[in-house]
Amino acid sequence: MEPIKKILVAEDGKKFYVRSIKEDFHTQFGFIGKEALARAKPGGMLKTNTGKELFVFPPSFIDSYWKIKRAPQIIPRKDVAAIVAETGVGKDSVVVDAGTGSGALALFLGNIAKKVVTYEIREDFAKVAAENVAAMGMKNVTIKNKSIYDGIDEKNVDVVCLDLPEPWKAVGPATEALKIGGFIVSYSPTIPQVSDFISAAAKNKSLLLIKTIEIIEREWEFNDRIVRPLSQQIGHSGFLTFVRKIRK
Ligand code: SAH
Repeated sequence: MEPIKKILVAEDGKKFYVRSIKEDFHTQFGFIGKEALARAKPGGMLKTNTGKELFVFPPSFIDSYWKIKRAPQIIPRKDVAAIVAETGVGKDSVVVDAGTGSGALALFLGNIAKKVVTYEIREDFAKVAAENVAAMGMKNVTIKNKSIYDGIDEKNVDVVCLDLPEPWKAVGPATEALKIGGFIVSYSPTIPQVSDFISAAAKNKSLLLIKTIEIIEREWEFNDRIVRPLSQQIGHSGFLTFVRKIRK
């Protein structure tokens, strides 16, 4: 899929994603000619042939992110935020991630870090993720179609993120790949997984257990005098466990 070139937003917030400015763009409100589309600048406004006004947005990361293809369950953004905030991952960081799944976490990390290498055991998921990486125009995210339990090729890594069924099996390879001071973050939906990961990490003399957290986000509705938490919320996603490599 082509990267998104422009985003058009209607007054009610409905978005249209333009991937080609070489052809007319059709919506349920009529179409916009390719010449007008090519000229349109962020902040500008375009009218369809039926007179509907659409505002021009630049294709920012988060707008493009909403359009990725989803294969297995993706990590919610509230948990991505905690990974970033707890590890301090940033523009100089090298990150290893597994499993890739649709690449949601890898894309977020790629948007922040210097380099992300992500391991996925299933070829079909690795393909979906590769399409997502291409559609987002990300150059610093590499997908490897292999099991992270069999080893990590990268060295001197700042953060290893694990979102897979048996994270304890990746403790050895992750510890070897990490630089001193680097973090392993393990994201698991169930407590038996968290326990087994913590037992494996506790046995490894290079690692220090930092903490296990659960992030709960409650969205509220604001509608005249109806001001209250939404009745439908994200229920449970997963627990995040942080460990740190403190010595060789
Ligand atoms: N973090 C991803 C979702 C991962 S879902 C996202 O945010 O989009 C878990 C993935 O781990 C699945 O795609 C599964 O195929 C993969 N997986 C399972 N075992 C693995 C292994 N040993 N090595 C690499 N990937 C693995």
